[in-house]
Amino acid sequence: MNRVVTKAFVMNSFPWKDRHRLLHLLTPDLGLITAMAPAGESFRSRLRAVTQLFCYAEYTLTCKQSRYSIQDGSVIESFVSISQDLDRLAAASHAAEVFSDVARNDEPQRSLFELWGYTLNEIAEAGDPVFIARMGTLRLMEAIGFSPRLDSCVICNSRLDGPLQFCFREGGPFCGKDLAAAGGETLMPLSAGAASLLRHIASAPLKRLYRFHASPAVRQQAACFADRWVEEKMEKGYRRLTLLDQCPDFVLPVAGMPPEEENHDDLSQPV
Ligand SMILES: [Zn+2]
Repeated sequence: MNRVVTKAFVMNSFPWKDRHRLLHLLTPDLGLITAMAPAGESFRSRLRAVTQLFCYAEYTLTCKQSRYSIQDGSVIESFVSISQDLDRLAAASHAAEVFSDVARNDEPQRSLFELWGYTLNEIAEAGDPVFIARMGTLRLMEAIGFSPRLDSCVICNSRLDGPLQFCFREGGPFCGKDLAAAGGETLMPLSAGAASLLRHIASAPLKRLYRFHASPAVRQQAACFADRWVEEKMEKGYRRLTLLDQCPDFVLPVAGMPPEEENHDDLSQPV
C-alpha cells in the first residue's frame, strides 16, 4: 500500500454506500483521481472540511490497486463564497464538469491544475462568475490544442484585427472578400472588442487571464462563442448554466454592429 501526499481540488463529492463519500480530486501530478473518504464518526468529523465541494486541500492518501482512500487532510482554501451564491455555484459546477471531462481523458497536466486554481479563485470573487467560468473553459480548450483562429482569414491568411465573421466549421474567420467561400454556412459575427477579448483569453499569462474590462455586449458575444466552441470541441452539451441564462440563437451576419457597442469595444489591460 502506497502513501501519497498531494494537494488537490474537490471537483465532485457524493455519498457512497454506507455513509462513505467519494471525491473526484484534481491533482497536479496524478490528474483526476477518485478517492474514498471512509465513514465513521471520527473520520467524518475530521474529514468533513476536506470533503466539501470545491475545497482546496492537502490530502494524505493511501493507494491500493489504484484505489485511493483518504487518511487525512487539511484545508488550504475552502472557497465558501461559492456555496453561498447560486451564480457562483452554477459557474463552478459548469467549469468543474468541463475540466473533469478533459482531465479524465488526458494525461495529468500541471498546467490544467493551475488553470483550474486561477479560474476557481476568480469564480469565488468576481462580479460575473458565470462569465469567468465560460472564459476559463475556453482557455482550457486552448490548453489542450483546440485554439480558435482569431487573427487571420482561414482562406487567404490575410491579417484581421477588426470585427470578425467566424466560421465554426473552419475554426476561424473569413475576410470580407472570401465571405462567399462560407457557402451558406452560418457565421457568428464578433465585434472588434469581442475578438480582442477572445484573443486575450487564448494567450494571456495565467496571472493576467482574468484581468480585463469588457462591456456587457462584448461579454455576451464572447460568452456565446465560448459555449459553442467548448461544446463542439468536447462533443458534449453542457447544461448547468442553462437555468441561469439563455444565449440568443446564432444569427446570420448583419451589416455593422449597433452603434452603442462601438464605444465599448476596447479591451483594456490590468488595473
Ligand atoms: Zn480571406
